[in-house]
Amino acid sequence: MRELKIGERVPMEAGGEAVVRKELGRGGQGIVYQVSYRGREYALKWYFVSRIRNPEAFRDNLRRNIEDGAPEDGKQFIWPLFLTKVNKGGAFGYLMQLAPWGYESFTDIYNGYRWEKPRRKGDPARKVKVRFASLDVMITAAINIVRAFRALHLAGKSYQDMNDGGFFIDTKTGDVLVCDCDNVAPDGQNFGIGGMPGFMAPEVVRGAAMPNVLTDRYSMAVVLFKLFFRGDPLEGSKVLKCVVMTEENDLIHYGKDPVFIYDPNNDSNRPVRGVHDNVIRLWNIYPEFIREAFTISFTYGIQEPNARLIEKYWVQLMVQLKLDIIHCGCGRVAFSSTFEKKGEHTMVCQSCGSTIYILGVNSYELPLNAGANLYRCITEKNNDDFTTVTGTVVENRLKKGLFGIKNMTRKSWQATFPDQSVREVGPGKAVPIWKGLHIEFEPGLEGSILL
Ligand SMILES: [Zn+2]
Repeated sequence: MRELKIGERVPMEAGGEAVVRKELGRGGQGIVYQVSYRGREYALKWYFVSRIRNPEAFRDNLRRNIEDGAPEDGKQFIWPLFLTKVNKGGAFGYLMQLAPWGYESFTDIYNGYRWEKPRRKGDPARKVKVRFASLDVMITAAINIVRAFRALHLAGKSYQDMNDGGFFIDTKTGDVLVCDCDNVAPDGQNFGIGGMPGFMAPEVVRGAAMPNVLTDRYSMAVVLFKLFFRGDPLEGSKVLKCVVMTEENDLIHYGKDPVFIYDPNNDSNRPVRGVHDNVIRLWNIYPEFIREAFTISFTYGIQEPNARLIEKYWVQLMVQLKLDIIHCGCGRVAFSSTFEKKGEHTMVCQSCGSTIYILGVNSYELPLNAGANLYRCITEKNNDDFTTVTGTVVENRLKKGLFGIKNMTRKSWQATFPDQSVREVGPGKAVPIWKGLHIEFEPGLEGSILL
């Protein structure tokens, strides 16, 4: 295929021409250029068309995706927008939105840094740290990744090529943009993409299955594992010991004989000190229910595609994980599992001695430290909005050391005290945190302060 030149005009299927401004990057499938079209700037992905198995079918699929539009409101996707015409050599490409400023690539987040081009020619490149503003933001990003794939799967499509190059993330807010959506296809169909080593489901690596929604779920667990633990779920001592060539290596360790590094029934592939220090350090920091979710994903889920956790369940787990971070008044920030237990549900901060009660609502358990928030997904039925604050734990202005939950919604809550007296908690009002207190957020949805 012929590469495009700066200034070259590329005829568009919808009419007009896109003008090539500069090259933005290149990969195995093609080259990405910045172009202007109808007065706006876009990214153009221009394919190495000889590497596409069936260019016509691939192009038809792209066109269908453009016509369907991105799932839900599309805010989470850099979706194909316009097709170019096919040139004489049979080559073509598509236009998409440019990655907005302020977003980092998942790869750079994973590595913890990126190289910034020098401002002046000749100056050395600058190594810039890339990290999330906080643990909360990292978990928000994880939830957003899962929600994007849930939306895609609900639309009856699979992504097929999930890998660390497929996301841009705002490290200050946790907003996620899924890019490289050109391999998205109706579930059950595939236009040639297999996926990236390390992210592909074992049955795809073995050639026993084509990418689909279930293999997406496997890849998603890998992405989440990498985000949380900064390591590869299948790379441990067994893989390090192996000396065969890379391709064969991948087939064995990621296809035929994949072993999770923390498989409770198989310790042949444990992480190695000095090589996998991130995973070793981070694995035990996370609460048991998160370790369990990954263990299921990479043990039963490796063999049995239907045993992989569905997106809805991942979202619940990660909302619970987000709630589980205690920002203690003394400045300590940690998962509740690292706080000292006092009774079955009550905790004490080892640093400052504060008692922290737990609010149980449905399957969620929420530590009630000062400043802790309740979200719509907790106080409303069938809601998965985990960002809108509907309640917050505040200290009584007159009685220091007395805490309450303030109603931040426009509706009243009903609080039932241990003596069975009932009090209405109107908007902006607070109810004291008492052992045995029940709060009805809406009919049929009740939370209780656990003992
Ligand atoms: Zn404390």
